[in-house]
Amino acid sequence: MRKLRAATTVAGAAVLLASLGFAAGPGAQAGDTNSQDVIEYRVHDAYPKGEALESAGLEVVKRVGDDVIVVGDANTGSRLEKLGLRAEVSRHLRQAPWSAPTLKPGAAPQDETYYGGYHTVNAHYANMDAAASAHPDLATVVNYGQSWRKQQGQGGYDLKAVCVTKKAEGDCAQKPDSKKPRFLLQSQIHAREIATGEMSYKYINYLVNGYGKDPEVTKLLDTTEIWVVPIVNPDGVNIVQSGGNSPKLHRKNADFTDADLRQCGDSAGSQPGVDLNRNFGYHWESNTSKCDQTTSTSNGAADSEPETKALEQLWANLFGDHRADGPDDRPDANARGTALMLHSYAGIIILPWEYTHSTHTPSDAQFRAMGADMSKFSGYQYGQAGELLYDAAGGSDDLAYGKLGIASFTIELGDSGGSCDGFTPQYSCVDGTFWPYMQKTFNYLASKAPSPYK
Ligand SMILES: [Zn+2]
Repeated sequence: MRKLRAATTVAGAAVLLASLGFAAGPGAQAGDTNSQDVIEYRVHDAYPKGEALESAGLEVVKRVGDDVIVVGDANTGSRLEKLGLRAEVSRHLRQAPWSAPTLKPGAAPQDETYYGGYHTVNAHYANMDAAASAHPDLATVVNYGQSWRKQQGQGGYDLKAVCVTKKAEGDCAQKPDSKKPRFLLQSQIHAREIATGEMSYKYINYLVNGYGKDPEVTKLLDTTEIWVVPIVNPDGVNIVQSGGNSPKLHRKNADFTDADLRQCGDSAGSQPGVDLNRNFGYHWESNTSKCDQTTSTSNGAADSEPETKALEQLWANLFGDHRADGPDDRPDANARGTALMLHSYAGIIILPWEYTHSTHTPSDAQFRAMGADMSKFSGYQYGQAGELLYDAAGGSDDLAYGKLGIASFTIELGDSGGSCDGFTPQYSCVDGTFWPYMQKTFNYLASKAPSPYK
């Protein structure tokens, strides 16, 4: 990681980046180490234009006063220039030189890792299975769908969740009338946000290993079902981990119906697939630009992706429907349960609505009270997406709350300006920085499951 000259303009940056040997597009081989690098651009006076950046398919990761930080690759600068924006390269997050994934011979399947300790999709799945076989009284693994590639017969994965609770008759059924209230934790809907999946991996193990020893865990599992989906987007994570020690920065799923890697490349700023967190069908907006970071559909409509549809069905099965769909409808008196989707790397807590911040939800006071409580653990700011960064339509929380009445939050892990910033922090950040406050945050949200709106 090193800083470029702060005053470098976008046009100047193109020259500078060329001189640094940036390769465009796919086909980067060992030795050609820079095409995967992430470049942050500071875009001046662009906060009020956040939605325009979002519509242009760019990812805004931070707000700095009236400026915003946009993340992308060497070509992102010229795209900003075409939008008439004044931008400069603010930081260059250099990827480690490429090397093949190395798996230790004889390692247990749940210990298969890449990039210094990050778990592969197979390792996440093996970890859930290992928890269930070692603790049959506590953990139940369920399949809730299939990834896009699996549906197409191109490899791919089942979509998996684990239910963790001190099991009693009828627990962990995929039906909304459960005896215990539920907390649902989900991560890696954006594949390249690799620290998020590790939070889920650690939480599953913390729960099953803590029962009967840690009074807080014991109480939670006696009274609550905790569901974890560690990898919402396994096809995408498969692409990320294929980079081995230099993870590919694939954000979207692997639905390459409209475009493939030859057309889009596979850089931070240009890649094929659909952004699952723009695909949910509540106040959805269309973005059919195939190589954008925020392509919102493969067929011109919302809910086009199998990963999205399956997750929505899981939510309906676990939580039922406790809210009419109008903007001012309150969740009904029986609404219970909490949900959290993890992202990185802005370091913020986001409440619905995300598609707009000109109105608040009817549950705004409760959401902000919970946001304030969670903020005490991490120090992250909380608010609606557009208050902190920009409005974003088609996200998970708007559908989960808007259609079903689930008290649903997004947290972006982050370490603004610190050594654990970026999509691919060193693995030591997982234990050293993120886990201590996320563990408290997850327990807090689980404790709110019985009555989030009271
Ligand atoms: Zn994300």
